[in-house]
Amino acid sequence: MNSQFYIDIEYTYGAHNYKPLPVVIDRAERVWVWDVEGKRYIDMLSSYSALNHGHRHPKIVKALMDQLQKVTLTSRAFHNSVLGLFEEKLAKFAKYDKVLPMNTGAEAVESALKIARKWAYYKRGIPMNEGNIIVAEGNFHGRTITIVSFSTEHQYRDGFGPYTPGFKVAKFGDAEEVERLIDDRTLGILIEPIQGEGGVKVPPQGYLTKLREIATKHRILMMLDEIQTGLGRTGKMFAWQWEDAKPDILILGKALGGGVYPVSAVLASNEVMDVLKPGDHGSTFGGNPLAAAVGMAAIDVLVEEKLDERARTLGEYFMNQLKLIKSDCIKEIRGKGLLIGVEIKKEFGPARPFCEKLAKLGVLCKETHEQVIRFAPPLVIEKEEIDWALERIEKVLMEPSYEHKVLKLS
Ligand code: PLP
Repeated sequence: MNSQFYIDIEYTYGAHNYKPLPVVIDRAERVWVWDVEGKRYIDMLSSYSALNHGHRHPKIVKALMDQLQKVTLTSRAFHNSVLGLFEEKLAKFAKYDKVLPMNTGAEAVESALKIARKWAYYKRGIPMNEGNIIVAEGNFHGRTITIVSFSTEHQYRDGFGPYTPGFKVAKFGDAEEVERLIDDRTLGILIEPIQGEGGVKVPPQGYLTKLREIATKHRILMMLDEIQTGLGRTGKMFAWQWEDAKPDILILGKALGGGVYPVSAVLASNEVMDVLKPGDHGSTFGGNPLAAAVGMAAIDVLVEEKLDERARTLGEYFMNQLKLIKSDCIKEIRGKGLLIGVEIKKEFGPARPFCEKLAKLGVLCKETHEQVIRFAPPLVIEKEEIDWALERIEKVLMEPSYEHKVLKLS
């Protein structure tokens, strides 16, 4: 079967909620993937940062296989012999008292919102069901109805109302606006340290510190969604460490599953997490033995292979090399660690055709927000592999300047 067969069958029987690049991946290892025709590509997207450890990291695969031989699912009706060990490892690693294990990112965000609301009503004394949470313009926290209720992206919300109330929106990067929006019903702030889906937007230095100060001053909860930025991606284990602005609630997902399994978690202090009583919240699959085994291996590999440091040094190198590309079509290059966005000037068309051309040359990445090409390779990438990708990126970024000029002249 060739690629077109798989594309067609997916199109016929699958919901059309994605528009993937026409590449059908059949096999993968570390930073490389192969399509069904055997063509090799370098993965410069990492499944939106879920593959920080690279594809099929041997230690993570082994942890999964070993656990498969023992027990895979127990539900939380019973204990299992892995969950507590995972919770302890994650809590100590991220320096929180308690962990709530979930599966996907959106579920973890929903869970954090529930915990924050309950904390506000039972511990902080905000009148029942009247609390509000401040979020940022351009946010992306997932796709559930509550989460899209406070999205500022028309398409994410359109047709999905009625919406969940209780959210206010401040400009991303503007801590003063957050403070202005706080009223006596405000219970928390929910922010991404860098907006990945929003177009790799990096807030001004000091933003997180100011949010930390504001949250402490007003006795509200600072919640950071580090589903995309956490676990080494930006050059620190957690992006909040760039400013030493530790949130009250930390939300993790994606790479916590080591690229092999969905694992997410909410982390908080005893004081906050203890608002959850038996029966308040749950998930059939959350904290299952496979997830716990994989999560532990994912943390071990991050630490052993110093993936945060790799992201920092290789990210700096990658960014500097990108900045040497003198292409007319580049508006801005921004990011932190190995989370990098190249914004294409509008007059050169959207970013998608650039990604399509890159795929033809063997470099897989994806546009975000029309004009931005996001580069987020696995953190295990080698410098020589970045160079391999850079050669092709330069070619594609230089080409349209020529094409554009020709078009304009003709
Ligand atoms: N939060 C952030 C910052 C994300 O980047 C994403 C996914 O891209 C999510 C939440 C949602 O995660 P999931 O797709 O696992 O529900």
